Amino acid sequence: MKRPAHHAAADPAGARKLLLPPTPSGGPAGADLHIHTRYSDGTYTPEQLVAAAVGHRLGALAVTDHDTVEGCTPTAAACAAAGLGFVPGVELTAEEGNRELHILGYGFDPAHPRLLERMTLFQNVRQQRIHEMVARLNRLHVPLQVDAVFALANCRAPGRPHVARALVAAGLCGSLDEAFERFLKKHRPAWVPKFKISVAEALALLHTAGGLAVLAHPGLSRVDDLIPALVEAGLDGLECFHVKHNAAQTRHYLQLAARLDLLVSGGSDCHGLSKGQPLLGTVLLPWEHFQQFQARLHQATPASGPGCSG
Ligand code: AMP
Ligand code: FE
Ligand code: FE
Ligand code: ZN
Repeated sequence: MKRPAHHAAADPAGARKLLLPPTPSGGPAGADLHIHTRYSDGTYTPEQLVAAAVGHRLGALAVTDHDTVEGCTPTAAACAAAGLGFVPGVELTAEEGNRELHILGYGFDPAHPRLLERMTLFQNVRQQRIHEMVARLNRLHVPLQVDAVFALANCRAPGRPHVARALVAAGLCGSLDEAFERFLKKHRPAWVPKFKISVAEALALLHTAGGLAVLAHPGLSRVDDLIPALVEAGLDGLECFHVKHNAAQTRHYLQLAARLDLLVSGGSDCHGLSKGQPLLGTVLLPWEHFQQFQARLHQATPASGPGCSG
């Protein structure tokens, strides 16, 4: 596998110095390593995302769509054109026991055959789930058409936010919140459980594809008791900075990451306009953490390791 050239390690303050105010260390202010695009349940195209990132003076970003890596190549190109660092990413839904947790993958080869094979399976399951959710709605006499959901989603990895948006667009719900509250939240009448892989499979898949695995928003998932076992199983990092973490949670996970020798990650979990106002720019991974992250990406498997550019 050919690794893209990366410039940040050699010239961390290079192109991005023009985009960001200097920090005390002289580098950019930060990165956003958790963003969804139109390839899953976000709304931004790669070009719109990069324009917004430049507007927020980010130094680097990762696209982490649910169950697809299609956004990585076009976003990498748009980032390169704008002088932004880019890390390929993905968000996988996994389970341990009966508990759901989200694993973020970074720096893998977006063309890795095994990764693409599994993505195709997860996408097929998501599309089938849309059919099942709409069938449930129809049984509740909510006349949503499944084609309307797929037309609105216009992607291979559709999810509940697309059903919610289609319900609002069809005038069947007054708001996205109403759609989730009445129908789509866990255990509500149109909710269909999501297919989840084991944490062990998620970690193995990401590592096989040359990437790193990070536990997403641990403050939301409430799985602290599982973290030591995840580390044992090969977890590489913790998402300490997240839009739904308060200051105490951020501190807690930073301490835990330091204690367990885990990478520190972070991002806004921006979905563009699909959840109201875009969250881009609200949460930054401080630049020194991004540099450590990037160094580890390049260290992981030097000959054929995870790609990232910056
Ligand atoms: P799915 O992957 O299809 O289960 O959908 C998960 C997505 O729905 C995630 O992006 C969540 O943030 C979003 N979501 C979950 N609950 C809500 C809610 N109450 N309002 C808006 N979005 C939600
Ligand atoms: Fe999402
Ligand atoms: Fe998540
Ligand atoms: Zn997310």
